[in-house]
Amino acid sequence: MTETAPRACVIGHPVAHSRSPLIHNYWLREHGLRGAYERLDIAPENLLAFLDGIESRGYVGANVILPHKEAALRGLRNATDSAKAMGAVNTLWLEKGELHGDNTDVTGFLANLDEAAPGWDQDCGKALVLGAGGAARAVVHALLGRGFRHVAIANRSHDRAAALAERFGKVVSATEWNRRADALEDANLVVNATSLGMNGQPPLELELGRLPANAVVHDLVYVPLETPLLAAARARRVKAVDGLGMLLHQAAPGFARWFGVRPQVTRALRDMIAADIIKAQ
Ligand code: NAP
Repeated sequence: MTETAPRACVIGHPVAHSRSPLIHNYWLREHGLRGAYERLDIAPENLLAFLDGIESRGYVGANVILPHKEAALRGLRNATDSAKAMGAVNTLWLEKGELHGDNTDVTGFLANLDEAAPGWDQDCGKALVLGAGGAARAVVHALLGRGFRHVAIANRSHDRAAALAERFGKVVSATEWNRRADALEDANLVVNATSLGMNGQPPLELELGRLPANAVVHDLVYVPLETPLLAAARARRVKAVDGLGMLLHQAAPGFARWFGVRPQVTRALRDMIAADIIKAQ
């Protein structure tokens, strides 16, 4: 009897923009594996029915994007500590008939910085995180895990920055949005976790004058790859890291669970996705 080839998918609403099918189908081809990775638009009112029926639909798991990340976690009995800490899942898989969920944004964020800016966490002094949404929460969690001694959060809506800071205790503080440039002083790392700088959005206004020369600037935005923030960092000869690597690294754990092979984030994969981003602009 021939075994059925495993199928996984990405669910979201909308989902047409997701590059996950490109990434996972690239890895399937690269490893010569039988299997498929599809894209499914699931409206919020159909999410729980989808999760209940995932096995009968023939899927071994799924990636979850907006707006389902929080609701999907609430619909699960089994979630990793990382998913619980983030209050959101982005990766689902079946284990002995039970659906499990993880959030791989934290490991994706760290793996990208480790690769693109080796030694970035050698002096875990101070980081400035811009934004207070789901991505910022993953970033703060990751930075504390690496031992950062002070993380400042600046967000347009200050109450969200204050609420996020409060979750993490004394080492995390909320900074006024209009004082964000002051918080660059002595910072080892700056992370843009807002949607500013993304195609169709205004640029992130941030005067980098006070940033130490050995700092790293990381933009989670990856459309475009070179945001105005990264261009400004490069102009000051400060190390600049784009968001594409995080997207690729957060995808790897799901692929390993569904298809049984731990894939690599290679230059060739990055070039293929970068070309797709440039083509779409
Ligand atoms: P989110 O939960 O919707 O948060 C959006 C954040 O952007 C909030 O802090 C929001 O501030 C801020 N913002 C939006 N418009 C703004 C404006 N005009 N001025 C100032 N601040 C503004 O989104 P998210 O999921 O955290 O994602 C944030 C960014 O990270 C997105 O660009 C996303 O593409 C990127 N991301 C990248 C990866 C990756 O793999 N590279 C992974 C996750 C996310 P308020 O609170 O004031 O609204």
